[in-house]
Amino acid sequence: MNLEAPAREALARFEDKLDVLRRFLLTENEKYNLTALTEAEEVSAKHFFDSFAASPLLPCGASVCDVGCGAGFPLLPLALARGDCTFLGVDATEKKVNFVRAASSLLALENCRAEHLRAEELCSSRRESFDVVTARAVAELSVLCEYCLPLLKEGGLMIAYKGPGAKTELDGAKKALSLLGGSAENVIGYSLPTGEERALVLIRKTGQTPLKYPRGGNKPRLKPLK
Ligand code: SAH
Repeated sequence: MNLEAPAREALARFEDKLDVLRRFLLTENEKYNLTALTEAEEVSAKHFFDSFAASPLLPCGASVCDVGCGAGFPLLPLALARGDCTFLGVDATEKKVNFVRAASSLLALENCRAEHLRAEELCSSRRESFDVVTARAVAELSVLCEYCLPLLKEGGLMIAYKGPGAKTELDGAKKALSLLGGSAENVIGYSLPTGEERALVLIRKTGQTPLKYPRGGNKPRLKPLK
């Protein structure tokens, strides 16, 4: 599947709103240090284009959770491109969630909410309730699976945004997948406009996640399921 052409089209189709978002991000960044990227071209390629990559993979009308959405990536571009879907972003850092809320109202995104929560906390109120869970630059895949898979309905799809090491990470997440009820479905590579290689790792939830996951006390990160 070619993910680049749809991402390029989305960049063009939503140019005006993305300009507004870029300006807002860069202004607020001076106050709150939200992103390491500060050049307009970089924001376009590495935040906007990259975020759009998963857009064609979302089923019609899906409820989507973006875990560790940070300053709104991939959350905000996906919500812009997929008005038919509903989005919830969660992040452990309050200033980022406040930014996402403000950006979402600035862009008049009625299908996008954000909560200041850790993914593990969301698992108690919204367990097995999303069609799709996305995550970018949050944790290594074996850790990420413990955050994301409990949130998915059976049959739902986890989409992890990764770099060129995606396949190796997937190999290292085999045990986590089998314990958590996931199975690897595909790894789709694509290139950013800068030429850098990226990949989406698709994991299908094929069985219920046992209730003991996610483990408490930051165990997913400190003692990954390996
Ligand atoms: N997805 C964004 C942000 C990446 S930075 C992007 O790609 O630009 C990683 C973010 O994940 C941080 O904002 C951090 O607060 C958040 N995070 C890490 N572990 C988390 C957890 N368990 N639950 C919620 N957010 C988490």
